[in-house]
Amino acid sequence: MKITLKDGTFRDLPAGQTVGEALSVADVALGPDIIAAKVNGMIVDLSRELREDALVEPLRFDSPDGREVYRHTSTHIMAQAVKELFPTAQLTIGPALEDSFYYDFAYDRPFTPEDLEKIEARAREIIKRNLPIKRREFSKPQAIEFFRACGEAYKVELIEGFPDNEPISAYSQGAFVDLCRGPHLPTTGHVGAFKLLNTAGAYWRGDERNPMLQRIYGTSFPTQAELDAHLARLEEIKRRDHRKVGKELDLITIQDEIGPGLVLWHPKGALIRLLIENFWREQHLQNGYDLVYSPHVARLDLWKTSGHVDYYRDNMFTPMKVEASEYQLKPMNCPFHIMIYKSHLRSYRDLPIRYGELGTVYRYERTGVLHGLLRVRGFTQDDAHLFCRPDQIEGEVSRVLDFTFFILRTFGFTEFEVYLSTKPEKAVGSEERWAQATSALEAALKGRSVAYEIDPGEGVFYGPKIDIKIKDALGRSWQCSTIQVDFNNPERFELGYIGEDGKSHQPIMIHRALMGSIERFFGILIEHFGGAFPTWLAPVQATVLSITDNQRDYVAGVVAQLKAAGFRAEADLRNEKIGFKIREAEKAKVPFMLVAGDREVQSGTVSVRGRSGSNLGSMSISGFVEHLGQEVRRQTRDLQPTN
Ligand SMILES: [Zn+2]
Ligand SMILES: [Zn+2]
Repeated sequence: MKITLKDGTFRDLPAGQTVGEALSVADVALGPDIIAAKVNGMIVDLSRELREDALVEPLRFDSPDGREVYRHTSTHIMAQAVKELFPTAQLTIGPALEDSFYYDFAYDRPFTPEDLEKIEARAREIIKRNLPIKRREFSKPQAIEFFRACGEAYKVELIEGFPDNEPISAYSQGAFVDLCRGPHLPTTGHVGAFKLLNTAGAYWRGDERNPMLQRIYGTSFPTQAELDAHLARLEEIKRRDHRKVGKELDLITIQDEIGPGLVLWHPKGALIRLLIENFWREQHLQNGYDLVYSPHVARLDLWKTSGHVDYYRDNMFTPMKVEASEYQLKPMNCPFHIMIYKSHLRSYRDLPIRYGELGTVYRYERTGVLHGLLRVRGFTQDDAHLFCRPDQIEGEVSRVLDFTFFILRTFGFTEFEVYLSTKPEKAVGSEERWAQATSALEAALKGRSVAYEIDPGEGVFYGPKIDIKIKDALGRSWQCSTIQVDFNNPERFELGYIGEDGKSHQPIMIHRALMGSIERFFGILIEHFGGAFPTWLAPVQATVLSITDNQRDYVAGVVAQLKAAGFRAEADLRNEKIGFKIREAEKAKVPFMLVAGDREVQSGTVSVRGRSGSNLGSMSISGFVEHLGQEVRRQTRDLQPTN
């Protein structure tokens, strides 16, 4: 058989050799860094026998596929440790995640921190044992019998759901056997640094009617140094958690008395939101949008016409009865903007029409998936709907792209990932419309030299879309912006415009959101900046601190001057040591601290410090106003698009 490597070199080998053997014959240095292989695109164990010609690609930890094999083996090692220490614990499932892994166990009590220590120590011992990991196959009845004999009821339930005539694989390491598709590392000794992270409760199959399982999270890396770097990053993520920072800086709360997933914006959070909204509205007016408002409820019939009642009911709050009609809390803004469009006869000359709204919507999300500001039940979309002729799609999408990047850059995001999602299996609209719209989106991306990936079949049923992900300061990706072409709503609502030919035509609708929702975007912003908002967004831009009571009047005067110049300033006149007051202002992440003692009073200056401890020296009040103004302009106005 002919074994080809990715670089095109090949070897002629006798059939029956394992992937590992074939690779070593092919001069691939088969060190412990090679953990599995891709054979004709399928990920397999190194012990898999080769029977026919194949393209073989070694997998290492440096690829996502390699990491998955590595972490999945790590979860088996953890499961073996749990079974050795707690033999009555039952196995369920244990997948690899992006940077970690977990395993869910059925056990009669939560695992304690002491348990975790023991499990971790035992897992390290299993790694030291360097047990070979072996694959075996069962028929379905054999597999059921085997796992029933092991007392693994959840595994039996899983197997019962598998197809009847396909072999079922399991992997063993020492005496431990787990039902598993694989593949795995060759031995337990291939795992380097291993660490358990935390525990959580999780329902079997994610359904709250099922028993609660005990989930253990862990992670693993080839070296201790990589593990340490990862743990340091996790600490940083925890330190920046928007729920924690939101409380520390008194920005927002979500309180059970109000209801899960419903956000209260406290004065400082509300002020940042106001600044975001003002910026957003100003920019939309400048960019050719009309701003509109719409109600929070509407007749249920409207949502029948839009299709939400049929296709979106699970995500909506229950309708309410008012007089003889049913009303629905709005899950989206689209139908309202459509009705504004429909309120007049439109001509081709009126198009495009762009309606923007910071529209608050309500969606039903299960309590279990709610997460701080990132997943909520009531949120405000920075929504807009564009109504245009088919020949205007490309131009409109190009404008939206420019606008999106401009807005996101102003908020400090500079790295983007862009995806173009094409026609899914279930879709409305003709082949021709899809092709036309998809190529318009593609042309817009190319015209703006935006690098993108195609997500085949991931478009919405009503049209293709572009999604833009931003990368935050910790390298995490967040999907915020979306630009979606829609053929469906114009048809459902019978939208039209009079064309140049005097006949009625159907407009194309484009839904777009740049930040996504203000709540979620704010959560991302808090974590991106770790609460240290850029000066233009900081709720307090400068705190003026007195050293003693002697400077009271002077400090009050400085604050008044800053406010008169349009800045947000506060005085700290407390009878505390200046060092303490500076630390407090730093903790509140105020960009500038202006210290005033007798010397400053005499010379009419302030001593200026940055929040990161930098000393900007002595400045006159007008000098500081100038400095502050320049900084704010640099962060906003100078970033405006040039067209
Ligand atoms: Zn497995
Ligand atoms: Zn919409």
